[in-house]
Amino acid sequence: MKNTPKHTVQGLPGGETSPASGLQSALSETLERLTGLVEQRQDELLALASKLIAFRTPAPPARNTEEAQAFVASYLEERGFSVDRWDVYPGDPNVVGVLKGTEPDRFRSLIVNGHIDVAEVSEDEPWDQDPFAPAVRDGRLIGRGASDMKGGLAGALFAIGLLHEAGIRLPGDVTFQSVIGEEVGEAGTLQCCRRGYTADFAVVVDTSDLHIQGQGGVITGWVTVRSARTHHDATRKRMIHAGGGLHGASAIEKMMKVIAGLQELERHWAVMKSYPGFEPGTNTINPAVIEGGRHAAFIADECRLWITVHFYPDETYEGVAREIEEHLQRVAAADPWLRENPLEFRWGGTSMIEDRGEVFPSLEVDPDHEAVRLLQRSHEGALGVPAVVDVSPTVTDGGWFADAGIPAAIYGPGDLQNAHAVNESVSVRQLVDYTKVMLRFIYEWGHTPKE
Ligand SMILES: [Zn+2]
Repeated sequence: MKNTPKHTVQGLPGGETSPASGLQSALSETLERLTGLVEQRQDELLALASKLIAFRTPAPPARNTEEAQAFVASYLEERGFSVDRWDVYPGDPNVVGVLKGTEPDRFRSLIVNGHIDVAEVSEDEPWDQDPFAPAVRDGRLIGRGASDMKGGLAGALFAIGLLHEAGIRLPGDVTFQSVIGEEVGEAGTLQCCRRGYTADFAVVVDTSDLHIQGQGGVITGWVTVRSARTHHDATRKRMIHAGGGLHGASAIEKMMKVIAGLQELERHWAVMKSYPGFEPGTNTINPAVIEGGRHAAFIADECRLWITVHFYPDETYEGVAREIEEHLQRVAAADPWLRENPLEFRWGGTSMIEDRGEVFPSLEVDPDHEAVRLLQRSHEGALGVPAVVDVSPTVTDGGWFADAGIPAAIYGPGDLQNAHAVNESVSVRQLVDYTKVMLRFIYEWGHTPKE
């Protein structure tokens, strides 16, 4: 049975219903009833979102998600999920719940993914309230994580809860992943993929203002200039003046060539590369941190540059890292000292707070993928307005699904003006709307036959 949107069924001539469309309209009636419940019971939805916000899970400092994850785990268990939980870091467990479908071989499976950590709150942020004591004011739920992304988690969990309460067993599998570490590049989602969790489609319920989004990617890297020998400050005149005869160099001064080279490549990329939905020049190479030298009495024998590279959805982190290395090797080849003292590269990393590195792979959304089309129909069916399919100007864990070969999209409530902001908030209206769409989508995708 091909999944058919409700309005098409209603449009059948003569009121005739085939067995398939009879089933379809029964599904539609159930959905209408359930989405009505979201509206009626929005206080419970807000209570759930508030409960999640009240868990203090900022990252950094991280290592503080145990209680929140225990809550999500029991919420899922109470609704029939079997739960897998493991420490990504001590004090930061991932939680994955699987609800087996009644006919998992014949119907589509889904991963719903969100991160439980929130952006850090620094001491001097002028909040009007305790960021972890959420409150509703002027139609908005305020608290750290309201937009990014405990609102999205709450909406998806509430939708799942309503389906369970209605006694509905989906034919397809649903996997719910509550991951840690996203704000500091710790890729709890990557661990889920490596542990073998997969599905026909994944929705990352991160901040997207109810747009269906792909994303570019980010990779950080360290470029190091290192001298095999350490020279005293007094030898400088011999390495820079005629007749000095000492083939040495300051690693800091050589790094100036590296930075100039990166700027050339960055400009070349800005001129030559583009991707629909991104302003030209979004693909930047930021020299973010520089460290080097050991003491004023020595020539700097080491200099390290930490760079942040933004790339487009149709590029890979491996590819852009290779381009940068090849370009800088040519810069180095034009320098007599760097030719003999090769640049060192270290790309990515597993955590901004553990090993000072991170990777966010890019995610391309195929607007013709049947799950993306269904999500659009769910959005339009629930809200009466067409869904926007575009790209996120930031990055989420969505790229790890693309990296693992799982089709995915970002779709969540809240906007980026609010994410990480003082007095972060999400519109109650949007949170309710989001929950309706997710309920429809989870239900209908779980009833979509595998082809
Ligand atoms: Zn987020």
